[in-house]
Amino acid sequence: MSKVWAQTLRVLEEQLPAKDYATWIVPIRPSGLEEGTATLQVPNGFFRDWVRQYFMRHLTDALTDASGQPYRVSLVVNSELGTPAAPDVDGGTAKRTAAVGLGRVVGRLVPEYTLENFVVGAANELAVQAAIGVSSDPGCQYNPLFIHGGVGVGKTHLLNAVGHRVLRRHGRARVGCLTGEAFVNAMIAALRRDQMEAFRARFRHIDVLIIDDVQFLGGKVRSQEEFFHTFNTLRDARKQIVLASDRPPEEIRDLQECLQSRFSSGLLAPIAAPDEALRAEIVGRKATALGIDLSSELIDLIAGSVQGNVRQLEGILNALRARAVLGGQAVTRGLVREVLGAMLRSDAAHGVATILGTVSEEFGVAVGEITSARRTARVVEARQVAIYLARELTDLSLAAIGRRIGGRDHSTVVYALARVNERSKVDPAFSRRLAGMRERCAHG
Ligand code: ADP
Ligand code: MG
Repeated sequence: MSKVWAQTLRVLEEQLPAKDYATWIVPIRPSGLEEGTATLQVPNGFFRDWVRQYFMRHLTDALTDASGQPYRVSLVVNSELGTPAAPDVDGGTAKRTAAVGLGRVVGRLVPEYTLENFVVGAANELAVQAAIGVSSDPGCQYNPLFIHGGVGVGKTHLLNAVGHRVLRRHGRARVGCLTGEAFVNAMIAALRRDQMEAFRARFRHIDVLIIDDVQFLGGKVRSQEEFFHTFNTLRDARKQIVLASDRPPEEIRDLQECLQSRFSSGLLAPIAAPDEALRAEIVGRKATALGIDLSSELIDLIAGSVQGNVRQLEGILNALRARAVLGGQAVTRGLVREVLGAMLRSDAAHGVATILGTVSEEFGVAVGEITSARRTARVVEARQVAIYLARELTDLSLAAIGRRIGGRDHSTVVYALARVNERSKVDPAFSRRLAGMRERCAHG
C-alpha cells in the first residue's frame, strides 16, 4: 500500500465514525495515486454512488492532507474486489496471477516483476545473484536471503522475481509471497477467530516463503513470536525463506534478539541506490517498453537529473509517455525538461507529506490538525517541528513551506524555526527526538 494511501486512511479513521470507516473506506482499493488524481476501486455501483454522495469531500481532503498536494478522486467499479471480508493473507487485491488459481501461490505475485524485466548493475548485482541462487536451489544455499535497501531500489521487484522463477523451474513448488503487514493482519484475524491452527497450517505447506517489508514487524511482539515460529518450522524443513526490509536487521526498531539473529544468519544482500550508469540503462529499457523514442542524449539528461530511486524514473517516463505517445507531442529536450521540472516540484510536496506523517506519529496529532488553525500547545509544537524539518529536508522556500503546512505566513514560519532551533540547543531529549524524526523522514 502506498504511503499516501496509508496516511489517508489514518486521517479518515480519525475523522469518521468507526462503522462508516469500516464499511465504506476500508474496502476501497487505490489503483493509482499519480499526479493529483487518485483512482480508487470500489466493489460495485451502489458502493460507488454512496461513497460519491457521502464521503467524497472526506476523501479528497484526506488525500490532500496526506500528500500535501490537491487531489481529484475518480471512483471505478471493480467487481473482483467482492464484498469486504476479514483481512487475509490473500489480500483481496485485483492484481493476481493465474498461479493463484492453481493453488501454488499464497498471497500474490505481480506479473511484471520478473527477473527478465530487472536491470542489473553494480548497485544490485549481489542481490540479483543471490535471488538467482535461491530460486535455482531453494533451501540449499543462503537461508534466509535478506535483501535490504532504501525506497524504490527494486526490493519488491526482486522478491517477486524469485517467486516467478521458482514457480517456473520447480513444477510443484508452492510459494508464499506477502508483506510483513499482511502477515500481521492475517495473524490477528486468525487470533480473533480462534483459528491459529489453520493459520499455521497454511505456512507449513509452503516451499518458498517470501516476506516483503519485514521491518513492519518491529514493535509487534505477538507477531514476532508467531513469525519466529513459522520461520523455524520452515527452516528446519529446509524450506527457503526470502525477506526484504528497508533497513538491515540490526536497525529494525524493537525487533527481538532471536529474530534479529535469525534474519542475519543467512545472506544479507544490500541494494544501493542506482548509480548514473544503471539509471541510464533503466531509463533506456523502460522507455523502449513504453514506446517512447528517446535519444541517448535525452536518456542521459534524465539519468543525470534524477538522483533518487527507480520509482521516480518511472514517474518521469510515465509523464513523458502521457505527453508524447498519447498527447502526440514530439519528445524534445524542452519537453523532457518541462516534465523533469514538474516532477521535482511534486517531489517537494511528497517530502512535506512524509514529514507531516512522521511528525503526526511522533506527537500523536493528526495531520489534519497540524495543518489546521488550531492553537493548542501540543498541536503548535508538532506544527513548529514540521516546519523546521521541512526547512531542513526540502528545498522549499519559507513561503512555500508556510503554504503547504496549513497556509501560515512567512513570519509564523520564521518564528517556528527560531523556537525549534533554540529548544534543540537547550533540551537534549528534544534534540534527540528531532534527530529520530529526521532519520525516519530520510528513510522514506
Ligand atoms: P522497493 O520495494 O525497493 O521500494 P520496488 O521493487 O517497488 O522498490 O521498485 C520500484 C519500481 O522500480 C518498480 O516498478 C520496479 O519494477 C522498478 N525497478 C526498481 N529497480 C529496477 C531495476 N533494477 N530494473 C528495472 N526496474 C526496476
Ligand atoms: Mg517494496
